[in-house]
Amino acid sequence: MKIISINCGSSSLKFSLFEMQNKEVLASGLFERIGIEGSCYTIKYNGNKLKEEVLMENHTDAVGILLEKLISLEIIHSLEEIDGIGHRVVHGGTKYKEAVLIDDKVIEYVDEMKEFAPLHNPAGLLGINAFKEVLPKVPMVAVFDTAFHQTMDEVSYLYAVPYEWYEKHGVRKYGFHGTSHRYITKKISEEFGRDDLKIISCHLGNGGSITAIKDGKCIDTSMGFTPLAGIVMGTRSGDIDPSIIPYIMEKEGLNASEVVDALNKKSGYLGLSGKYTDSRDIEDGYKSGDKRCILTEEKFIKSVVGYIANYYVLLGGADVICFAGGIGENSPEARMMIAEKLACLGIKLDVEKNNVRGKFQKISTEDSKTALYIVPTDEELMIAMDTVALINR
Ligand code: AMP
Repeated sequence: MKIISINCGSSSLKFSLFEMQNKEVLASGLFERIGIEGSCYTIKYNGNKLKEEVLMENHTDAVGILLEKLISLEIIHSLEEIDGIGHRVVHGGTKYKEAVLIDDKVIEYVDEMKEFAPLHNPAGLLGINAFKEVLPKVPMVAVFDTAFHQTMDEVSYLYAVPYEWYEKHGVRKYGFHGTSHRYITKKISEEFGRDDLKIISCHLGNGGSITAIKDGKCIDTSMGFTPLAGIVMGTRSGDIDPSIIPYIMEKEGLNASEVVDALNKKSGYLGLSGKYTDSRDIEDGYKSGDKRCILTEEKFIKSVVGYIANYYVLLGGADVICFAGGIGENSPEARMMIAEKLACLGIKLDVEKNNVRGKFQKISTEDSKTALYIVPTDEELMIAMDTVALINR
């Protein structure tokens, strides 16, 4: 059974084609600058990499080229081989607690939810509509970033604001990165042969979130009404006092959306360091004694440790703390700094085992009170697995 996982941005389309029998990636790639001058695509397959510049006016053009290339590169022999398409959709609101087969009603709801995810949901729909046009008979599934977090109770998901804001306008915590946290939960449950674990899942990438999981279910998460909340990120502030917004509006002569834009795009590592969004640059600066990089790294670590500590107490202890995402998987230094601050909880990192990148591995000592793991996340595979489950149902 062959499934394509799709993750669309407003001008991009990322794909992975899986053979689900052995969960092998047959091909993967990225279509970029769709609708912009210089549009191009990269396809990786069978140890080869093809990169070409080609005119793509919209996502339907990209999907057409993708399917044509899958055949001309002999990755598949006919389009009939594609059994299903799984789409990443960021916001499923409160309606979708799990993945769903796409029909017109789903499309309508995803469109309605664009009010909550104005950049992301329309992009998801571009991909859905493009495949609907080109492969109308192939079943499609929507996998929502918010779905895994729908098990939070109201104490976790409500903000202490006027209750009518929640009732009338849906103001509450939704949480994001749910597909990644769900994948991590699944891998750890398989590793332990148990699903009654207390897990703190740290997805630390350019965007980052931390989730508390009990018995396989999310009970709290660090992102909120939007993906701006929580820990310090590449360009996002994470949690701040909201009174800063009107204050800066007045001082800098900006409107509210300009300030929120700065909190999304000019804050986090970039805001604090004044120059870098990439954690590798921050880490290099930290090592060479750059004061602002030291400040940035320490602030990031403090914010991560703060959420871990919060969730450790919420869960009543933790069996496992996992690290995923570009930083979580690849930075022994960041994991070490986090673990050092958790020593007061009896958590002990195995420094040698920690010296690894991108590999599923236990990295705590045998006598550590909580096990530490690196779990390379795989949202694409999770989307493909959800797609298979739904089309086989
Ligand atoms: P993601 O959004 O999950 O792709 O993660 C992107 C982040 O991971 C960026 O801040 C990268 O600097 C970081 N990252 C990727 N590789 C490494 C590495 N080898 N060491 C430290 N950070 C890394």
